[in-house]
Amino acid sequence: MRLARVFSRTSKEIPKDAQISSHRLMFRAGMIQQLSSGIYSYLPLALRSIRKIEKIIREELDARGYEEILMPAVIPANLWQETDRWNLYGDLLLRFKDRKGNDYCMGPTHEEVITDVVRRNLRSWKQLPICLYQIQGKFRDEFRPRFGLMRGREFIMKDAYSFDADEKSAKVSYQRMYEAYTAIFSRCGVRIRVVDANTGEIGGDLSHEFQVLASSGEDILLICDYCEYAANIEKAETHKPSVVVEDFKPLEAVATPGQKSIEEVSSFLGVPPKCFLKCLIYETDNRLIAVLIPGDRKVNEIKLRTAVEARELRLASNSIVEESVGTQPGYVGPLGLPDGIQLLADYSVQAGSNWVCGANSDDKHNLNVNFGRDFEVDNLADVTFAVAGDLCPKCRKGKLEEARGVEVGQVFYLGDKYSKLMKCTFLDKNGDLQPALMGCYGIGVGRTLAATVEQSHDEFGIIWPVSLAPWEVVILPLQLSNSFLLETAESMYKELGEAGIEVVLDDRNERAGFKFKDADLIGYPIQVILGPHSVSAGMAEIKFRASGERVEMVFNEVVDSVSAWILDRRHGDFVR
Ligand code: ATP
Ligand code: MG
Repeated sequence: MRLARVFSRTSKEIPKDAQISSHRLMFRAGMIQQLSSGIYSYLPLALRSIRKIEKIIREELDARGYEEILMPAVIPANLWQETDRWNLYGDLLLRFKDRKGNDYCMGPTHEEVITDVVRRNLRSWKQLPICLYQIQGKFRDEFRPRFGLMRGREFIMKDAYSFDADEKSAKVSYQRMYEAYTAIFSRCGVRIRVVDANTGEIGGDLSHEFQVLASSGEDILLICDYCEYAANIEKAETHKPSVVVEDFKPLEAVATPGQKSIEEVSSFLGVPPKCFLKCLIYETDNRLIAVLIPGDRKVNEIKLRTAVEARELRLASNSIVEESVGTQPGYVGPLGLPDGIQLLADYSVQAGSNWVCGANSDDKHNLNVNFGRDFEVDNLADVTFAVAGDLCPKCRKGKLEEARGVEVGQVFYLGDKYSKLMKCTFLDKNGDLQPALMGCYGIGVGRTLAATVEQSHDEFGIIWPVSLAPWEVVILPLQLSNSFLLETAESMYKELGEAGIEVVLDDRNERAGFKFKDADLIGYPIQVILGPHSVSAGMAEIKFRASGERVEMVFNEVVDSVSAWILDRRHGDFVR
């Protein structure tokens, strides 16, 4: 391709909302254009890279026996009502009506549609496993679209689904997809950390996220510095401490007038927050629950919801607390809570002693409150967020360290959640009707592209892994008026093209500095530089974008050595 004729232009401008490097660079390189909040046009350079990611995905999934399909983006409400996600999915779901007043949504994910597709065909165990995927635009009405393609509202996703006859083979399907993802991201040249993850509203009980480590990532990860344990902070377990019973001191009540928050009472009494018990009242679908955690911890509401098996959960308002406990939220404690409020404590509460906590009476706290001696609980569970510095819950030797990541893919084992609700069943070997066991697996195609740029760039621009580069080589003739130089550039352009290399000729009548800047910004892995001095000596200069290394080379070696270098890396290389 000749740059004098291309449509997109690079730009020095940076959009005001472009907070992270990948967004800035993809905009400046002329790859993406925003149409509306979180809605983008993919310009030619971006689309070429996107197609490469899609090709890698197709090759890896096809090789594992997956068949590609394409489901509609517009989904009738009744399918989503079968699983109740029409109500549960919330504002992310873009709902609308057709001219007859029927409800529809734009598909944010396709568990319902695929389950419908499969249930219409599935009869016998002999048809299983069924493995299908699609690559398609999804729509989620994100609360905060940002970071360019990282968090859009309309975005391209690869979603795959597996259906199996029993749990053992369903877990094999899950594992095979896990391996496919590892291969896919490695071929994309992006470094990944796999972490344990929550299943969220999709459901099921086993899930992993594929995270690109990046300081700008929205996800917080906790990674053991000793073993392989790594988890999203939403999921990371806290290490269950052994119960240490220290000398119980006598229970004592103290006046704490006007001191409500842990910080206030802590400085008032001169006791550190970790010696406090926070007692928070939550409202669930049909009851109130008091949750006890150490004063220096935070409640992980996802864990709490699972522990109490509630569909919905929220912190009770001040007025509900005052009405039900008879005191303001800051003075709530485990001693003498009214009947009917379930009391749940985090495991760590059992392991501490002589706690300070609210006395269920305004302006009063209790000192030396002890689990077992002064109060009992209805349940013990892991309901707090793990934090950096915690002992690893798996090896119990290492410490957890915090890192940030961009979730580019996630795999879920769903079990029979959708198949049961939607009656996607088959006759097993004994002739009994069984729901199929499902897995679902997503990759954000655009997000993978943006995360690659986030991981691999410098102050001059993008540094593409060869496998995702929109073009592999750029030829930079620096003096168009020099006919020998131009002819040399043209013949290298032709020969590299014939050798199957994706090559661009910068035939724009621009200064050398301008061409260099653009080449670095767009990030072609190799620049073939033809300047008047070297050309007159029969030499070209080769610049490798990733290392910055420059090599002088005689003309007739250029095509062979550039092609060899590119072909060596096309199947996946890590540049950073
Ligand atoms: P997030 O937690 O980032 O909102 P998610 O966990 O809800 O994402 P999934 O339902 O797991 O997303 O979707 C599969 C993949 O689709 C994600 O791993 C991610 O790569 C991609 N993806 C999800 N939401 C977006 C978005 N708003 N913009 C771009 N890609 C997205
Ligand atoms: Mg996810």
